[in-house]
Amino acid sequence: MKIADITSFITCPRLAYFRIHFGEDRANEYHAAREIFLSLRKGLGYEWAYERFRSLYPDSDDIFKEAASKFRYSEELERIEPLEWEVFFESEKLGLKGVVDEITKSGEFMVVMLRKARDTFSFKERMRMAAISLISEIESGHAYYAFDGVLKKYTAARRDRYNVLRILEKLRRIEKGFMPERREGERCKSCEYRESCEARPSTFLSRFF
Ligand code: SF4
Repeated sequence: MKIADITSFITCPRLAYFRIHFGEDRANEYHAAREIFLSLRKGLGYEWAYERFRSLYPDSDDIFKEAASKFRYSEELERIEPLEWEVFFESEKLGLKGVVDEITKSGEFMVVMLRKARDTFSFKERMRMAAISLISEIESGHAYYAFDGVLKKYTAARRDRYNVLRILEKLRRIEKGFMPERREGERCKSCEYRESCEARPSTFLSRFF
């Protein structure tokens, strides 16, 4: 299971089902913003970020340009010294793995996000960082909102870790083939699995998931 499966699950449990079983890696602005962040933190610039992005997503130049026009590099980042980037962690016990964007010299993690929607962390943001905390065994870290140029500190709460474990239990069932109930909402309008999802109605059992 990947950390991204947890965030997909929070967006929509069915979306997690489709991504786990039929997921493809498609370019989006988050991928581009992450490359820009990594490149700037390494002192390598936008051109390098573009080369890396293009090597993974050859036909997505417009996405990169759009993300580059929105990207903000905050001077606040300068007070945090990086130690290493793109560090892979895996917890066999939890059956969970993920790549952490940056580990800092102060022994914290840093993850790239796009927009800061509110003052406090959303549930999805907290779950993402709690999952990182669980697999890396690092208590605290920072979220960098790349399109706002805002840095925000996170410290893992016990309740957050507990909620990650609850979600993992559900994801295990999804991994084994259980399809959650369809939840019609705003997200469905832009969902890449809309057609397949509409073709598969909710079952009686899925209502109790
Ligand atoms: S169409 Fe809606 S309910 Fe179905 S997977 Fe997508 S977001 Fe979820």
